[in-house]
Amino acid sequence: MESKTILIVGGGYAGLNVIRALQKQYAHAKQKVRLILIDKEPYHLRKVLLFKAAAGEPKLRVPFSCYFDDEVTCITAALTSVKASHHTIQVAYPDGTAGARLVLALGSVVVSPPPEQGGIPLTSVAAAEQIRNELKRKVEQPRMEREPARQKSLLSAAVVDSSITGMEASAEIAYWL
Ligand SMILES: Cc1cc2nc3c(=O)[nH]c(=O)nc-3n(C[C@H](O)[C@H](O)[C@H](O)COP(=O)(O)OP(=O)(O)OC[C@H]3O[C@@H](n4cnc5c(N)ncnc54)[C@H](O)[C@@H]3O)c2cc1C
Repeated sequence: MESKTILIVGGGYAGLNVIRALQKQYAHAKQKVRLILIDKEPYHLRKVLLFKAAAGEPKLRVPFSCYFDDEVTCITAALTSVKASHHTIQVAYPDGTAGARLVLALGSVVVSPPPEQGGIPLTSVAAAEQIRNELKRKVEQPRMEREPARQKSLLSAAVVDSSITGMEASAEIAYWL
């Protein structure tokens, strides 16, 4: 029997779970399937642990090769367009590939507050590192300060977010400082 080819674009949480589900489904049906994962990065970014990077240097990037052996072909390329009518997509590299089915799992765009509002939104690894560096800098300042009230105010940091990420980030930063 001819095996199906399915392209999954985006190796975030959605993409990885789609692959696992497809593997189970096709194994259960005793059918062959060729799975191709395309991501602009060669790794899965463990986004839900970003808060840890605000206070330390956790391993956030996990190479796709750690998740799959030969059963999934992983291609590092950025999707540039989709032609549904022709069952083709365009990627920055290699240029153009075709598949019988296509799964798009590209994540979402984070809406950041306007810069004049201040603060650093925790949206990426770079932002988490920026927060960590800013906190390090702030912790140094009170050492020069003699007045206790002023010293206390310099040592204050606000986490504006009461969701689980805000709580996790607060706990991580408090433990670190
Ligand atoms: C700080 C923070 C904390 C969070 N904490 C939690 C939590 O505790 N629990 C929870 O459930 N959710 C949490 N979330 C939300 C969670 O991270 C998202 O819901 C989840 O990452 C969405 O998964 P996804 O696969 O749709 O997208 P993503 O994880 O964003 O993955 C998208 C993938 O697509 C790839 N990609 C994008 N564009 C292209 C392109 N043009 N070509 C090729 N590849 C492309 C990216 O490289 C990426 O690998 C948190 C988010 C943040 C920012």
